[in-house]
Amino acid sequence: MARLFKNGKIARAGSAELVAVDVLVDDEGIIESIGPDMAAPADVEVTDCEGCLLVPGMFDLHVHGREPGDEHKETLASCAAAALHGGVTGLVLMPDTSPPVDSGNLVKSLQDLVSEIGSIPMLPAGCLTKGRKGQRLAGFLGMANRGVSMLTDSGSSVPCPDLLRRCMEYARDFDLLVTTFCDTATLTKAGALNEGKVSYRLGLPGIPAMSQEIAIDRNIRVAQHTGARLHLQQISTANGVKSVFCAKEAGTRVTCEVSPHHLLLTENDVIDYNTHFKLAPPLRLESDREALVAGLIDGTIDVIASNHSPHTEFEKSADFGSAPFGVTGLETTVLAIYDGLIKPGIFGWDLLIERYSKRPREIIGLEPVVIEEGAKAEFFVFDPAAETEMKREYFKTKSPVTPFLGKTLSGAIRETVVAGL
Ligand SMILES: [Zn+2]
Repeated sequence: MARLFKNGKIARAGSAELVAVDVLVDDEGIIESIGPDMAAPADVEVTDCEGCLLVPGMFDLHVHGREPGDEHKETLASCAAAALHGGVTGLVLMPDTSPPVDSGNLVKSLQDLVSEIGSIPMLPAGCLTKGRKGQRLAGFLGMANRGVSMLTDSGSSVPCPDLLRRCMEYARDFDLLVTTFCDTATLTKAGALNEGKVSYRLGLPGIPAMSQEIAIDRNIRVAQHTGARLHLQQISTANGVKSVFCAKEAGTRVTCEVSPHHLLLTENDVIDYNTHFKLAPPLRLESDREALVAGLIDGTIDVIASNHSPHTEFEKSADFGSAPFGVTGLETTVLAIYDGLIKPGIFGWDLLIERYSKRPREIIGLEPVVIEEGAKAEFFVFDPAAETEMKREYFKTKSPVTPFLGKTLSGAIRETVVAGL
């Protein structure tokens, strides 16, 4: 059935201006017309959007779908449902499943699972090395032939710089994006949180900032030498932002991402040994958080990516040292960024759309989503005057483990509209 969204304000990248208009979506999900005070044609469902925003669907470059192999944490169906619930209408699946996605055949079987669900685009990334073991190259040609555009060992670094060099040389030749989780295992050891005052106070082993910073610098250097396109995941320190800034100044083909958690929280939030704050990389200092926000605003940091990492509540109920790293993010990112950064006036919706909708699609080679006549409907209705209680019942993910659990965030996503769904 065709739908008329009355009096919503359209948010867009590149413009802070918000003007209330009506948006008519035809019964095939195409935006037929946009304009003021439209009369509702017959047989049209009218939705009153007074006071609400219509926001282009977000795109998350960093999602752990867990299927196949860890369906007790998440399935592709629950992942898609969580994404839509959080205003995310497309995403990239990390290849750290069981088995890891390291060949064209495994990409094909994952693509088949995704199309069976028939929901939003969920694009498989492939591994850089066989089995994510960091020993020999994965099947680049087979994966490229299946349409993969991002390769990553997701959660593991490629320890040997010579192998990383060969990965980047092949990736460059196939025009594939190399994406790296930046960590130096010999420095991280069994660390559980940022190395510093809080780790000393809690008596837990720390992960030094330089564990990530050294890996960032090394990976940038290899990208400079090979000419490959490099995307750095989950930048967490001020020094990391500086390194990316300098690399971009030098013309290196590098992009990077930050998580909503690192933009909003610090090591001081790791109170009471709450494992919902146990992240990889760990939450850092307030000065790091400020540098990440500044880097996001000035464009040194290209995108926000949630690093949606489902683990069951049982797994996360272990003690802080033994609990797995990571929390979910698909259903909390838009709300948490609105509550913590947009509502207080740190930046506007235009920047969030640029960094969590437009730029991530660009990096993976997709067209941006826009709310314009003739375009497919792909937006969510956001009510800034409402509040959302982050109760367990709110979540569609199988693993409602997040630092925001139990909190009330400003704003609410009323619904996500996608043509054909
Ligand atoms: Zn991850």
